[in-house]
Amino acid sequence: VWAACLEFIKDNITPVGFKTWFEPIVPVKLEGGALTIQVPSKFFFEFLEENYVKILRSALVRELGKEARLLYDVRLENSYSSKVPQTVKIPSSNRAPMQPQNVNFPSKNISREVKNPFIIPGLQKVKVESNLNPNYCFENFMEGESNRLGRSAGMAVANKPGGTSFNPLMIYGGVGLGKTHLAHAIGVQVKDKYPDKTVLYVSTEKFIQQYGDAVLKNNNRNDFLHFYQMIDVLIVDDIQFLSGKTKTQDAFFQIFNELHQNGKQVILTSDKAPVDMQDIEQRLLSRFKWGLSAELQAPDYETRINILKNRLYRDGVEVPEEVIEFIAKHIKTNVRELEGVVTSLIAQSAFNKKEFSLTLAKTIVDKFVKNTKKEVSVDYIQKVVSKYFEIDLATLQSKTRKRHIVQARQLAMYFSKKLTKSSLASIGSQIGKRDHATVLHACKTVDNLTATDKQFKKYVEDISKKLSF
Ligand code: ADP
Ligand code: MG
Repeated sequence: VWAACLEFIKDNITPVGFKTWFEPIVPVKLEGGALTIQVPSKFFFEFLEENYVKILRSALVRELGKEARLLYDVRLENSYSSKVPQTVKIPSSNRAPMQPQNVNFPSKNISREVKNPFIIPGLQKVKVESNLNPNYCFENFMEGESNRLGRSAGMAVANKPGGTSFNPLMIYGGVGLGKTHLAHAIGVQVKDKYPDKTVLYVSTEKFIQQYGDAVLKNNNRNDFLHFYQMIDVLIVDDIQFLSGKTKTQDAFFQIFNELHQNGKQVILTSDKAPVDMQDIEQRLLSRFKWGLSAELQAPDYETRINILKNRLYRDGVEVPEEVIEFIAKHIKTNVRELEGVVTSLIAQSAFNKKEFSLTLAKTIVDKFVKNTKKEVSVDYIQKVVSKYFEIDLATLQSKTRKRHIVQARQLAMYFSKKLTKSSLASIGSQIGKRDHATVLHACKTVDNLTATDKQFKKYVEDISKKLSF
């Protein structure tokens, strides 16, 4: 019967379509007008339903008459899912437990509805590697004023994924403030509470790369979408990297909609608030705002102490209270740095067989503070620029209109505006008693020249390098 069906189908569709979508089908059995066919994947099944259901029906009705029915046996296998072949079952009282799902052809109206009852949530479980770091858990995420909203929203989401109004949950904030940690913690807790839920953590970079690969490799875009659309809790880290990637944004949009509609949880992190994100489609941005956006801020002193203590405790080292307090007092803006100091401290003390003394802590903190935020002053900039052009400071500040000196002066003003917090007026008064309009003019001139003059552009780049640290 199947052979005859194939014969008929082959005559009515394209050779490529036939080869791709009908040759892989294996007829399994025929029982009282019901033909069971085995298809390689759920995606395959859906594609058939979507694109070839009419021709399939015609073929079957031709061969078996009006009462013809078709049953699918869906194998679960593809690169993204587990290797175990599985039969989709329908939990129905009057059927043997292992019988394949029954799809009746409705005699009048073949519509998309056909496929919906087929997909029974929970029956097709696939194994997905979650990519979660178990150390990034809530227990290790110290609470403080700076992260209270994000942390408690994260907890709520983890306890009831998809079941809160925090969907998506957007965690944003500067570098090293715990976005990645918190995002993992939510995933870890979901896995703990709901082992059956499919959780996936993915960095946006990896997502972009996977999408690129999928599109390149003979158009696996659909497989890519399908893979992501079956995730229960999807965590995408550093979503700001989608900026400018329009194709990947489209794919993410589709995935987001499908997940959101089905009550699946989406968690995003970003270094900016949604309003400040650039080159991201409006429709995506507006969805980012559907749920809750929670900002992580720099931790206060108390929280820094707690973070340090927790860290040291986990590393099994004892450090005098005054050393901990010293570090917490001086490293203020970034948790990653805080941890960097601890790592350095432990390494140094092991290496030199030294105690965790305050002196040692001071040297390390000093280095950290110097390396990370050397405050650039207008003075310092003038010196660097003068030295670069081999003129002296007095000449730079003088009234001379010689072209190369004017340029040097303008560059000093430009970098002062860019790298210091000084006002235009204050910069002007420091660089040879000019007024704020002169400084403004200098900044514009530098912008223009950088765009048009190659040599000048090189000056800007060279000096930038000298001023950076
Ligand atoms: P981000 O992703 O925002 O750049 P991370 O999540 O990578 O920052 O955090 C940097 C480091 O600081 C990580 O090692 C993380 O465990 C730690 N950290 C950040 N916030 C906290 C916190 N509240 N409690 C404990 N550790 C934290
Ligand atoms: Mg991060």
